[in-house]
Amino acid sequence: MNDLIKGIVINSIEYKENDAIITILTNEFGKVALYVKGYKKITSKNVYATQLFDYSNFLFDYKPDKSIQILKSANLIKQFSDIKTDYEKISIASVICEIANAVEEDIYKLVFETLKKLDDSDQIYLVLNVFLVTMLNILGIAPFVDGCVNCGRTNDIESISTIEGGFLCCYCNREFNEETFDVEILRNFRIINKASFDVFDKLIPLKLNDFKITNILILILINFSGINLKSYKNLINLNK
Ligand SMILES: [Zn+2]
Repeated sequence: MNDLIKGIVINSIEYKENDAIITILTNEFGKVALYVKGYKKITSKNVYATQLFDYSNFLFDYKPDKSIQILKSANLIKQFSDIKTDYEKISIASVICEIANAVEEDIYKLVFETLKKLDDSDQIYLVLNVFLVTMLNILGIAPFVDGCVNCGRTNDIESISTIEGGFLCCYCNREFNEETFDVEILRNFRIINKASFDVFDKLIPLKLNDFKITNILILILINFSGINLKSYKNLINLNK
């Protein structure tokens, strides 16, 4: 049976001289590895639909017992053209796709919505921050932001621990010695942790487009999920 499935290319590994194994994220089957013959040949009709971040229709005969499916053909539905032409957006999309490739949860709709927002928006770190918070909630490792993660106190908060996973009060932080943050960052970190794409437009004026917040969320993700996020190095370099 031929399956025509919509998917987003989240990873590609070149194979032999001209071929590649790409991973697509789909609604129907989750992640699917596809063998793409002639991936690098400019004459191949599939070349414009199988590149990283492409959103395409993929035709293949899905065999659940096989770890890699053979791609018959692919047709581009939508290219996130703003992402493809902006190095900082590419770096953010790479982080999103690397996370998507590392987890088994059903996040097809979330990844699609995130890439669409990233393509359209100037507030690129706000987009990434909302994605990260949603991901932390899905994975059950969201930080505690309703008080000190160590003692529960709701006042005298001065730090965010990426190891304990939440706010720290000034008394507990004598023991942990984490970096202290000003009130604005602490307040914004709490707001972003309650946010979702459903209220994205309301977040735009709130100064949440902040790499400092991104950095804390990513460190929590890495520490609590164990994902080794190689693509994050590019973002750190861009924000030095
Ligand atoms: Zn405390």
